[in-house]
Amino acid sequence: MPPLCSRCGLRQAEVYQPQSGESLCRECFFEDITARVKREVERWNMIEPGDVILLALSGGKDGYTLLDVMSRIYKSDRLIGLNIIEGIHGYNKEEDARYLVMTAKEFGIDVIVTSIKEYTGLSVDEIMYKAKERSTRVSACTYCGIARRRIMNYYARELGANKLATAHNLDDESQTAVINILRGDFESLLRQHPLAELVRDPMLVRRIKPLRKIYEWETATFTFLKGYHIQETECPYIYQLPTLRAKVRRELYRYESEHPGALLRFIESLDRMLEPIAAGIKPRSDLGRCVRCGEPTPSGKALCKLCELLEGIGVASPLYSVRRLRVRV
Ligand SMILES: [Zn+2]
Ligand SMILES: [Zn+2]
Repeated sequence: MPPLCSRCGLRQAEVYQPQSGESLCRECFFEDITARVKREVERWNMIEPGDVILLALSGGKDGYTLLDVMSRIYKSDRLIGLNIIEGIHGYNKEEDARYLVMTAKEFGIDVIVTSIKEYTGLSVDEIMYKAKERSTRVSACTYCGIARRRIMNYYARELGANKLATAHNLDDESQTAVINILRGDFESLLRQHPLAELVRDPMLVRRIKPLRKIYEWETATFTFLKGYHIQETECPYIYQLPTLRAKVRRELYRYESEHPGALLRFIESLDRMLEPIAAGIKPRSDLGRCVRCGEPTPSGKALCKLCELLEGIGVASPLYSVRRLRVRV
């Protein structure tokens, strides 16, 4: 006989949770994830009444977990989804985006599908083709990450959303924290704290990470048990992942498997150590404006990061700098 659920004692256990030592039935597992996200969101006041939140949905396991859980802990009519197609051959599939839109509709949430090409004029593949021609040595992940961040912020702002929720999980957060510590980059480490607002600018929408205490294996299990079809293909540019992140990821997985709960304890202790500093920050408001596209720019810089990256591959007038993209739900 398979064991019964450690929580309810009624149903068959399906998920072993190493960090708690419990074996949970699927209902109790779903409840556990939802309750932990809710607790984290409330603990840091990530959501305030009246907030309109744009959900960044990739079509992967983290995105489906974010969509499902957020629709349970907040009002669906105040949530909007955004799916950004990178434009990577063999990776993005039209049916994945369609399925995401349909699934979100069942929760009463509209999802807007756009692409890096629609905003910049170039897909990630096209960017990488030009980058290779000019041997820029900038990885696909950098172009793609910077472009996606810009597009998310742009849509959030244009749609009148005052928060932008990304689906970063505990594994992502832990890797980033270790990298920031190894690099001695205290500002970036502090920026990871949910209370830290380092920069305030009317053109930047505040970001929240509701899944920051949920393990990656948990979002994968959640998505699988709920029966969501996820985009399964791995990004062909994965080998361009910066080496340090790849190494940190491998070591953290190993440490976590030997010491279950280690990542949770790690982020939890950082949260507590940084809380007094994060809560006392007076946000800077000294951002400039990009001379090319008008978007926020670090003070003293003429070009924003995206314009700078695109100029590096010979694109001096990206689409967004010459034509304003119209955004509508
Ligand atoms: Zn149970
Ligand atoms: Zn710019």
